[in-house]
Amino acid sequence: MPSHQALEAAHLIDRLERLARAGEQVEGLNPAQWEALRYLARANRFSRTPAALADYLASTRGTVSQTLIALEAKGFVTREPSERDRRSIDLQLTRQGRRTLDNDPLTALASHIERAAGARIEDLVESLRGALANTIAHNKGKAFGACYTCRHFRRNARASAKAPHHCGLLDEPLSDADSRDICVEQESVPA
Ligand code: SF4
Repeated sequence: MPSHQALEAAHLIDRLERLARAGEQVEGLNPAQWEALRYLARANRFSRTPAALADYLASTRGTVSQTLIALEAKGFVTREPSERDRRSIDLQLTRQGRRTLDNDPLTALASHIERAAGARIEDLVESLRGALANTIAHNKGKAFGACYTCRHFRRNARASAKAPHHCGLLDEPLSDADSRDICVEQESVPA
């Protein structure tokens, strides 16, 4: 059994999550639509697909498809056949979708966390990241970590100012911005 402190932390996270969701009935979006917009703003170009989004949300393809249809109808997302794989769909946030994320209700929660944690914010993030990794491993899910933490990431491997890094798995150039995005193929460096 976990300690009572660990159990209390789990209850606190659960309650925070509920309160954050309660604040999401703005901009005409439901919680699933907010989650999809946030994912598309953070995911790299190899990961902006309906299948990867379904994996990230631990949801079904059918549910995600309904979410995407609604977001497209609102003008927040476009869906185009992928240039890399014509059987797949590339998802893109529109300018309107990005503008809407400027009013993301989750930023209020981020401010509350910042105020509460103060100088301990890095420790808090590290602990939450570890808890998430354990939960994902338990569920046998994909990590969706940041690209620069991936074992296939080759820093400064290319003679290009625009895209100086390289993906060893997909054999693709990566910019500094790409290196901070999350990726469906990300694999952590073995400990
Ligand atoms: S280095 Fe890893 S995380 Fe980055 S694009 Fe390649 S597979 Fe994805």
